[in-house]
Amino acid sequence: MVNRVSYITVLLLLINLYCNGQKTVDNIYHHGVIYTVDSGFTIAEAFAVDKGKIVAVGSNDAILKSYTSPSIIDLKGKPVYPGFIDAHCHFYNYGLGLYNADLTGTKSFQEVIDIIVKHSKEHPSEWVLGRGWDQNTWTVKEFPDKTLLDSLFPHTPVFLARIDGHAAITNQEALNRAKITVDTKVDGGLIVKSKNDTKLTGVLVDNAVELVKKIIPPPNKREQEQALKKAEENCFAVGLTTVDDAGLDKKVIDLIDEMQKSNALKMRIYAMVSATKENLNYYFKQGKYKADRLNVRSVKLYGDGALGSRGACLLSPYKDKPEQQGFLLQSPEYYKDIIKRCYQYGFQVNTHCIGDSAVRFILHSYAEQLKGKNDLRWRIEHAQVVNKNDFDLFGKYNVIPSVQPTHATSDMYWAEDRLGKERLKGAYAYQQLLQQNHFLANGSDFPVESINPLFGFYAGVVRKDQKDYPKDGFQIENKLSRQEALNGMTIWAAYSNFEEKEKGSIEPGKFADFVILDQDIMKIDEKELYKVKVYQTYVAGFLVYSQSNLNNNK
Ligand SMILES: [Zn+2]
Repeated sequence: MVNRVSYITVLLLLINLYCNGQKTVDNIYHHGVIYTVDSGFTIAEAFAVDKGKIVAVGSNDAILKSYTSPSIIDLKGKPVYPGFIDAHCHFYNYGLGLYNADLTGTKSFQEVIDIIVKHSKEHPSEWVLGRGWDQNTWTVKEFPDKTLLDSLFPHTPVFLARIDGHAAITNQEALNRAKITVDTKVDGGLIVKSKNDTKLTGVLVDNAVELVKKIIPPPNKREQEQALKKAEENCFAVGLTTVDDAGLDKKVIDLIDEMQKSNALKMRIYAMVSATKENLNYYFKQGKYKADRLNVRSVKLYGDGALGSRGACLLSPYKDKPEQQGFLLQSPEYYKDIIKRCYQYGFQVNTHCIGDSAVRFILHSYAEQLKGKNDLRWRIEHAQVVNKNDFDLFGKYNVIPSVQPTHATSDMYWAEDRLGKERLKGAYAYQQLLQQNHFLANGSDFPVESINPLFGFYAGVVRKDQKDYPKDGFQIENKLSRQEALNGMTIWAAYSNFEEKEKGSIEPGKFADFVILDQDIMKIDEKELYKVKVYQTYVAGFLVYSQSNLNNNK
């Protein structure tokens, strides 16, 4: 039986529609340059948003004729893009790190010391924690030793992580607490000693870093929440609306879920599960988890370390240290076992691979499960140095390269020292990787790099640092076009998260996640690209960042 009331409601709606032909929606945006990033890369002028989703996209005439709204916004020619997605970052750790001493951009170890002395006075705590140093940017480009730290902090443990997190400088107190001596051995890591092997220098590489890291007292719940909220605030200000966190524990994922449900956190998060025993047991048993803002269906593995600290696993020795070749962080059986279980339970595998040997080993391990073409979207994170014979494996097994264009322009000053000319050709080879599957995912790996996705856009397109070096671009044949770079941080990144049906473009039915910039990154002079500022950021139709609010507050 037809419900009489609803029948009348429908009738009234139809009459209303017939009379003025307009449907009422929450918001209308018009007179913009809307980069929809749909399959035809269509540029529209206007769109309508209702209940957090895009309902229509088209010309000014078409949208303003068909829709009406209490909120009709004239974009005044400003460019609009789908909300940016960072396909590989460490969102939670970045947030936590905001409370540690920031050592990025330091020019010497002395500067590091000055910063932590100041920081420890301003924020006294049980441990002195810092992150972001890189000996390659120092005048003396070598690992320091702990002598100075020991004299300044005789009783307070100090832990200073390198920019990539794959090495750390510690003092004696930290080593004591971790029970590290000259005799301590560690698989897949290095405890650096003095020349005659009699003294510890305090420098730890790869798995050795974990020995100290694991005894640092964990943040409490309030600190965790603060970290997530601060990270979100900063990320909205650079236009990010989804972040792929490359390695989280169940506890943090649960906290994120709780905060999102209570609307304390609005960022959408693709949470890769850290491959600990407890995490895997839980998620393989419970299965995938999907909410509007949270997607848990992937496992993060670490194949090797980083190139800067010579932890990247190479097929032949380092050019600048022939006695070293890097190493896999775990036994081959370890990877094969987890990869096999991910396949069984339908989880995506995302493995950190920097060196050509790690890339090759993991690709072959993937291939054993995937066998051929597939839609499982397994990823190689970084895919930084690829042997010329291995590129086609990405295509053959539909493996997604998840790359960070700013790594190319951060490493280009010294990458050739590590790799030599020949091997360098297959490094940071984004265009060559793109050719395999005709898509890739772009990320930043922040806090290793800046959180600003436009720095990645610039680095991918121009392949220069922000001082316009080198003149012709670094291995410019591997640059991305602007359209490819934009796809990589929107629709292709969404695809790498199995979310291309709900985000990544401005199309009807998708979440109203979008960014308004103050200049058009598809048109302006390439020199200006990294300077472009976000005007406004929206998640599910809600304004989450506005430059004008910022100005009003000043
Ligand atoms: Zn990472």
